[in-house]
Amino acid sequence: MKPADFFSLVDKERIANAISNAENRTSGEIRVHVESSCPENVLDHAAFIFEKLKMHETRLRNGVLFYLSINDRKFAILGDAGINEVTPEDFWDQIKETVLALFREGKYAEGLERGIFMAGEALRDHFPYKKDDIDELSNDISYGKNRS
Ligand code: CA
Ligand code: CA
Repeated sequence: MKPADFFSLVDKERIANAISNAENRTSGEIRVHVESSCPENVLDHAAFIFEKLKMHETRLRNGVLFYLSINDRKFAILGDAGINEVTPEDFWDQIKETVLALFREGKYAEGLERGIFMAGEALRDHFPYKKDDIDELSNDISYGKNRS
């Protein structure tokens, strides 16, 4: 299956909406990236994708990547330096656990939706939304090449 076909149109819209809603609460910029398989350690690879998507170029260094590879079911949440500076090391753990629990039930869109909501809530104190906020990174899912 191509990564772009993993989610239905309705699911894609749900996920993009979850991101815009979260970004109405925080200046943090959330992205979701989906690809077929992850060739290496999932956190290392998520860091590679993070760079590739130029997610480190946000003004406050507060980008957050939700990374999912569908064939090997690897998942990671990665935040940029601005977030890591002001949050504990286990900041993403609870969100990750919640998302993975839904993934295990086959609820992928719901899992991401829930995780994105939680990320918005978690970030709002550290990076509150400002009236002049701009959407620095697309809210649509991005996809890796299909390596099947
Ligand atoms: Ca923004
Ligand atoms: Ca955005």
